Amino acid sequence: MSAPDGLPPLREVIAAHGLRARKSMGQNFLLDLNLTAKIARMAGDLTGCDVLEVGPGPGGLTRGLLAEGARRVLAVEKDARCLPALAEVAAAWPGRLEVLNADALDIDPLAHLLPPVRVVANLPYNIGTELLVRWLTPPVWPPFWESLTLMFQKEVAQRIVARPGSKAYGRLAVLAQWRCEARLVMELPPEAFTPPPKVRSAVVHLRALPAPLFAAPPEVLSRLVALAFNQRRKMLRSALRGLGPDIEERIAAAGLRPTDRAEQVPIEGFCALAREVARG
Ligand code: SAM
Repeated sequence: MSAPDGLPPLREVIAAHGLRARKSMGQNFLLDLNLTAKIARMAGDLTGCDVLEVGPGPGGLTRGLLAEGARRVLAVEKDARCLPALAEVAAAWPGRLEVLNADALDIDPLAHLLPPVRVVANLPYNIGTELLVRWLTPPVWPPFWESLTLMFQKEVAQRIVARPGSKAYGRLAVLAQWRCEARLVMELPPEAFTPPPKVRSAVVHLRALPAPLFAAPPEVLSRLVALAFNQRRKMLRSALRGLGPDIEERIAAAGLRPTDRAEQVPIEGFCALAREVARG
């Protein structure tokens, strides 16, 4: 049966263009167009939005984003073998899909996109966390994007939405939830992908808040949280010793106990401590 965009089913696209998945490129393709449409819908109303997609591969999610009404899609794909398949998608949606054959870590998306921007991607596992951290730590807030709708390994998704006191709570949770509303919106079994990965996957939706939940200097907070969770089993007073001889007093001044462990400290506590540390 042909798809609503008149393009062939993804299995045919893959066979026609010889797109055998490469592990080195983190390639686990979604071939069910109902599923890619569902993920595109998780991103909210795309009409009137430019969308950045990293790693379109054979274009399943790209087709979902265009069918859901994205004004324009910028799809950044490192593997040149995917370009002919993506050119067919671009031809079916004239003027609405721009494909960049590039490494997503090297490009400046703002040179290609107009606000409002949403980011939607089934990320290659090897650069997923790095891209997320970059998107969460821009030089100014609010960032260039309104929302991020991203597929990760489930374990990474759980770290993004984790609450204080849980094993998964760490740097990613603090960075994500300090300035975003973060939700795990969908779980997928390995069989949803071709080839199936070893682990389950999940989609996380992050909506940028207009301002951080609690005031804090971003760079100090980032450094503090990285240090605190680097030695998550240690008490704050020893994990943060590198921040100065009076760190114990500063921890107390922030309303925390020097004997607390990082995983017990809520985001508000880290922000209070970052303010104390920044006082010089
Ligand atoms: N979006 C497709 C889908 O859902 O079926 C493919 C997702 S697959 C998990 C990840 C995609 O990212 C692959 O197409 C891969 O070639 C591409 N990719 C890997 N590393 C990349 C990078 N550094 N920059 C851009 N794309 C990359």
